[in-house]
Amino acid sequence: MSELGALDLTGRVALITGAARGQGEAEARLLVARGAQVVLADVLHAEATAVAASLGPAALAVELDVTDAGQWTHAVDVATDAYGGLDILVNNAGILTSGSIESTTEDDYMRVVRVNQLGCLLGMKAAIPALRHRGGGAIVNVSSVAGLTGVAGVVAYASTKWAIRGMTKVAALELGPDGIRVNSVHPGSIDTPMTRDPRFDGVDKDAIHAALPVPRQGHVDDVAEMVAFLVSDASAYSTGSEFVVDGGSLAGRTPAERGPT
Ligand code: NAD
Repeated sequence: MSELGALDLTGRVALITGAARGQGEAEARLLVARGAQVVLADVLHAEATAVAASLGPAALAVELDVTDAGQWTHAVDVATDAYGGLDILVNNAGILTSGSIESTTEDDYMRVVRVNQLGCLLGMKAAIPALRHRGGGAIVNVSSVAGLTGVAGVVAYASTKWAIRGMTKVAALELGPDGIRVNSVHPGSIDTPMTRDPRFDGVDKDAIHAALPVPRQGHVDDVAEMVAFLVSDASAYSTGSEFVVDGGSLAGRTPAERGPT
């Protein structure tokens, strides 16, 4: 066994969605570093192709819109044709839109549901036969702290992240007998193109992050390390569970936030 022990992913094949940038890219880089072969699936195909090229023969890119079941079938076929099978699925792709319950239109809502929620379901449906064929595997579905608590102003996003959390538990129950573990990851505020969006320019992010028990914004590698753990044998007894990577944002309120109680 290598010095990585149970974290070693040598011989495992992974498909990661939304891997062109942000957390998905970091997960792809770390899984390759741990010995896996990785298919980077994204609508941003040129960007994903460039990341894959930088990783050498252990990585390749496939164009995938997670809302399209036919493209999912193709992506899984690409992984099995290129690397001989599939052991790991990371449903990481997601979009964030802002909007209160009153301001969110039906179209706005369904657009987020299709990418974040339906995309996760379609990914599992497409990957399960291939994982079962290998005699087991691991699925990680990327939710959010917004899938563990309410967040005002992002009703579509939060709804889908709660749905991912629930779907993960259903999947763990259904797939346990096949040796397939399924867990959800719940990042807090992580520095990626999603959180660098100009719509957050007026937000004092430094003050928010300084108040956390771990007083900084999350880095993509913080999340990638959790994902790499959950797809490895080091987490062999964990399934249907929630893994939070949030610097302690959900731990509770500080005295300043709590007020005179
Ligand atoms: P990001 O915007 O940097 O990356 C998301 C990736 O998903 C992009 O490469 C994008 O092209 C891809 N994508 C979007 N729609 C797609 C589709 N239909 N099909 C295929 N790919 C698609 O965002 P990120 O911050 O890296 O987010 C990754 C995941 O983590 C998302 O699910 C997000 O909701 C979740 N998350 C992020 C944060 C954060 O603070 N950044 C916090 C909690 C949860």
